[in-house]
This record gives sequence, structure tokens and C-alpha cells, in this order.
Amino acid sequence: MLIKDSIDRSNARGYLRIATEEAFAPASVLEHYRKLKLDDPGFNSLWGFYLGSPSERAQSVIRRLQDLGGERLADMDASGIDHQVIALTSPGTQVFDAATAAAIAIDANDELSAAVNAHPDRYTGMVAMAPHNPDSAVREIERGVKQLGFKAVILNGHTLGEYHDAQRYWPIYEACQALDVPVYLHPNAPPKAMIQPFLESGLDGAVYGFGVDTGLHMLRIICSGVFDRFPKLQFIIGHAGEALPFWQYRLDYMYGAGQRSRRYPHMPLLEHPISHYLSHNVYITNSGVAWQPAIEFCQKVIGVERVLYAMDYPYQFQADEVRTLDEMTIPAEHKKMFFQTNAERVFKLGR
Ligand code: CA
Repeated sequence: MLIKDSIDRSNARGYLRIATEEAFAPASVLEHYRKLKLDDPGFNSLWGFYLGSPSERAQSVIRRLQDLGGERLADMDASGIDHQVIALTSPGTQVFDAATAAAIAIDANDELSAAVNAHPDRYTGMVAMAPHNPDSAVREIERGVKQLGFKAVILNGHTLGEYHDAQRYWPIYEACQALDVPVYLHPNAPPKAMIQPFLESGLDGAVYGFGVDTGLHMLRIICSGVFDRFPKLQFIIGHAGEALPFWQYRLDYMYGAGQRSRRYPHMPLLEHPISHYLSHNVYITNSGVAWQPAIEFCQKVIGVERVLYAMDYPYQFQADEVRTLDEMTIPAEHKKMFFQTNAERVFKLGR
């Protein structure tokens, strides 16, 4: 059992609740965001709101992001979360120059490591890194996994409009396969080249723009052929798979047709249809989507052993959603896989 003092609590319901896309931000990172002058409308829309709005939502998210102690643990207890898998919030390091980004990653990993060491039964860490320079990113990933005991790597979407399917980033994936740690591809706002029509309608953030951009990013990575090169590499995406399971039939049909007719000669011929990679190289969390139809659909499409629970704390801290998910009318063994054992396996918790 992973968490000794949770055994009694979990026995009544038959499973632990392990939340797997939970966020934190050191105060120093928020200070960097405050000072950053960036020609990036997505960043300015998101962080302009959270750091500038007097609303209760913005202030509580900013306060809770920085807390890795009392308030977070009290929130977990109040909502019945036994364990959080925690990552540096988006866009993390990925809006800074390479040197600043690498320094921020090290500081964030050290701060998270101290909290994990203080509460090993409650927290697991994901490694923050600066993908700008893949060699230095690999060094920080190795430090995070081997020295700090972190169990995954966080990639917060594109880096100032550059997507991470490009081959110059593949050393990062080679290292993750060798270390046997998954990459969590977390949303970022759509980049400057894409965001204007979203902004005009207030749809750039978590409401829709994040999902469109992250689904695209995951597809770009699949279509780059990275999983043919590194077939054991595992990605995790949130938000019920950023809609990709729902698109699967059409993706297979149309991408396959395009490949057979060599419509895009610059693209590699994949060894498998897109659906193969979704069910062999991708895990999905339900972060932000406490909704049985979407969760069950993901389980049916990519496999019940590949769908995990996440709350998306503190952005979507809704204690009532936990009860809703407890009451899902799915088989008890699937519920335990969803809340507990899939996370224990993919993150190698307790090992
Ligand atoms: Ca999130």
C-alpha cells in the first residue's frame, strides 16, 4: 500500500484517491511572471488575470499555488485526496530565455523536493525542465529522477510558439524512455500565431483554447514519428485526452489516407495508425472533467488501464466533484484503477 495513514480512510471506499495533475508555483516564479514583458497574448491573458484580478478566484488560486504545506494538506483532507502528483504550473519555465528557464527549473525542483521529503505519503513530484536546451534539460531530468526521486517530467505546452515534436527535442524523449518516466504534456495558451480568434470570444484559456492547442501538440508529437523511434516512451495528457479519443476514428481515416497518397511528403510514414499510439503511448487524466460520459468514453477507446484521476488543483478545487466521481456507475475494479492503481503503476509510486 502506498500511503500508510490513508489505509483506514481508503478501506471504507476501497481505493485511494491519487490526483495526478496538481499544480504549484514558487513565489519567485510568480514574481518572474509579474515582471515579464512578453509579446505573447496567451500568457498576458492568463497571467494578467491571475496576477492582476482582485476576484476571489484569482486570489485563491495564486495563494494556493504557492502553498505546499498546511493549506494544501487541509484542502486535500477536506476533499478526500490521499495523494497529489505535483508539477510546476504552466507555462513553467517556457516563457523565459534558456538560462533563466534552466535556473527556474532547478529552483522549482528543489522547492518541490523539500515538500515531497516533508510529506512523502502525500506528495509525488514531476521534474520541471527547460526544453530550450535539450542537453541541459536531460541533465535536470536525470537529477530530478535519480537524486530527487521524482516520477515524471512536466512539459508545459509549446515554448513561445515552438512545439516539441521537432527532432532537436528528441534527446529529452530518449532520456525519458531510458529512465522509464512519463512526460506529462500540460496545456499552455494557444501561441500568438493561433490565439486571436480565441481571444475575440473569450475562449483562449482552459475553457477551450488550452485543449485545442494541447490536442494539436500531442498529435504533432505522434505524427513526428517519435513513438516509432522510442516505442516505450509514455505521455500523459489531461482533460479527458484533450478531445483526441473523440477524434480517433477520423484521425485514423484521414491521416491514413494522407499518408497513403503522400499528400505531405515532408511527414514520415508512421508504422501504425494514430489510434495505436493513443492506446500504447498515451495515458489520459480526467483533470477538469468530472464527467462520467467522457471518462467512460476514454476508458473504452484507449483502455481502462490508461485513464487516471486528476483534480487540477488549485485551478479546479471542487470538493463536490470527488463525490460525483465516487458515484460513477462503472465497475468497482475500474473505479479503483481510475483513482488509484493506474497512477501507482505509471508513476511507480511507493517504489
Ligand atoms: Ca492543470
